Amino acid sequence: MVDDCIFCRIADLRIPTELLYQDHQLVAFRDIQPVAPVHILIVPKKHIPDVLHLTNTDADILGKVYEVAAELARCEGVAEDGFRVVVNTGPAAGQSVQHIHFHLLGGRELGWPPG
Ligand code: AMP
Repeated sequence: MVDDCIFCRIADLRIPTELLYQDHQLVAFRDIQPVAPVHILIVPKKHIPDVLHLTNTDADILGKVYEVAAELARCEGVAEDGFRVVVNTGPAAGQSVQHIHFHLLGGRELGWPPG
């Protein structure tokens, strides 16, 4: 738990947020500035700043992230048409919160390559 980290504070329930999913490892909630009809953030409770800080001890968290992403995609009705799970890492990718998070995007055509 990092006190001045907004996603640590959400995961710790210090900032009231409607959670779509929570367990001992993860929370999921809607992005405050959605860029697609379905835009959910899946956030490990552990403060990992970004992909560069992942280690093999985080493998079970990553497995759970994708299990939850698939389940939320089904619940949100985008599993069949298709969806994307995105992790921005570093300034060139536009990472704005330094606590690893997985964007689940769906509900519209998602361009490729991404901008
Ligand atoms: P990134 O730019 O990849 O670091 O993504 C950070 C995301 O967090 C952005 O899409 C923001 O809109 C979103 N965000 C920031 N603060 C909040 C918040 N309090 N609740 C929900 N989403 C947030």
